[in-house]
Amino acid sequence: MRRHRKTKILATLGPASNNPQMMRALFEAGADIFRINMSHTDHAMLAQMVKGLRALSSSVQRPIGILADLQGPKIRLGTLPGGSRVLKEGEKIRLVLGDSSEKEDEIAIPHPEIFQAIKQKHALLIDDGKIRLRLLRKADNFAEAVVEVGGEIKNRKGVNMPDTLLPMSAMTPKDRSDLDAALHAGVDWIALSFVQRPEDVAELKKIVAGRAGVLAKIEKPKALTSLDRILELADALMVARGDLGVEMPLEAVPGLQKQIIRAARKAGKPVVVATQMLESMIQAPVPTRAEVSDVANAVYEGADAVMLSAESASGSHPIEAVQMMDRIASAVESENSYRAVMDAQRTPPEATTPDAIMAAVHEVTQTLHARAIICWTKTGTTALRAARERAEAPIIALTPSLETARRLSLVWGLHCLVAEEIDNLDQMVDRAVDFAQAEGFAAVGERVVVTGGVPLGVTGTTNMLRVAMVGTR
Ligand code: PGA
Ligand code: MN
Repeated sequence: MRRHRKTKILATLGPASNNPQMMRALFEAGADIFRINMSHTDHAMLAQMVKGLRALSSSVQRPIGILADLQGPKIRLGTLPGGSRVLKEGEKIRLVLGDSSEKEDEIAIPHPEIFQAIKQKHALLIDDGKIRLRLLRKADNFAEAVVEVGGEIKNRKGVNMPDTLLPMSAMTPKDRSDLDAALHAGVDWIALSFVQRPEDVAELKKIVAGRAGVLAKIEKPKALTSLDRILELADALMVARGDLGVEMPLEAVPGLQKQIIRAARKAGKPVVVATQMLESMIQAPVPTRAEVSDVANAVYEGADAVMLSAESASGSHPIEAVQMMDRIASAVESENSYRAVMDAQRTPPEATTPDAIMAAVHEVTQTLHARAIICWTKTGTTALRAARERAEAPIIALTPSLETARRLSLVWGLHCLVAEEIDNLDQMVDRAVDFAQAEGFAAVGERVVVTGGVPLGVTGTTNMLRVAMVGTR
């Protein structure tokens, strides 16, 4: 089974899709990798989802990636008397530390850190930014704020504080326990929400210790100020437009999306565009023109993957949403200007042997009209460098490691295959050619380009390029 699409589809599982039939249907519709949102998934459910996806992967004989998304330090209100209240513009309100407050003019927030860090004039945005408070003054355990934009607030609604650098680790006790469970279940990627500083990523990387890839969700203005360092440490990024659009002016999000994608592509690390991509399909069987355009735009920007959240997790049309994304991405990729855009945005190779090889592969493939690029890769690094070129020919990542194959399912253009370890150069080429033929990438008389490294079996040594022709046998 091969897909004729380079951009990957990341679909979130949830109540609407958490069963073997739906998982299979979503995969068949085009989902390449699945997201499990730990904000809404307990450990028993997580284990069940992972088991279901692994069974699916065996049955379709394709590596399928799994990403566990940690909730992160999401700030929430405490409880309110009666469960809700209306805030009026101009009203002054006391914010107090605690789980609840019975007083009329008080709102409880159960996070001591915010009382330490918040400063005069900082904004507090409640319920996806629908309600806005501005801090007037603060004492140790309470603060006084004025309502700038009013509305009804309810128990436990989320709070965003875009101006404040919160002295909180990016991992709460819940995240640590969710992380344990996710690593135990053997997921391929861990996503970290509300990353603020490079150290947040470093902390998670240390715990994960190579057992999964680490994806940093970019959704805080603070993260944007050290994006380069975060990108150096993380294995992938997500443009998490939901919270990003609350913490930043909405009109800044498209530009930030471009910047983040560009930075990730330059670094050769996968980048996901997420949230509200086909939002109206939560209810409707067809998306809006604007949504189609938005998905298409992410594909034109060269994003590695486009993501579905509620559309596939809890919407009424999960399969149609994946099919729609598949159709949009396929249409864009076969449209004339796509190739021109990809070529124009090509990032120059870095001064390393693998990059030099990959740049040569790109040229050779184009010159010979080779049918596929086949990369032997153990850790996935070489395949990432190949994908970074955004070549027109399909890229096959051949790896002896199932973990690597699954992890690479997030990456632009990679068709991942698990192959036995090789022990000589002839095998390296012969096997690659066999795979290309068997998987329908090249026919007799057609050429492919193979990369590998000598000495064989040593990681990080890609230093060879071979052109081979599919022969008769
Ligand atoms: P979330 O992350 O759905 O977990 O909040 C994505 C986003 O904020 O866009
Ligand atoms: Mn978010």
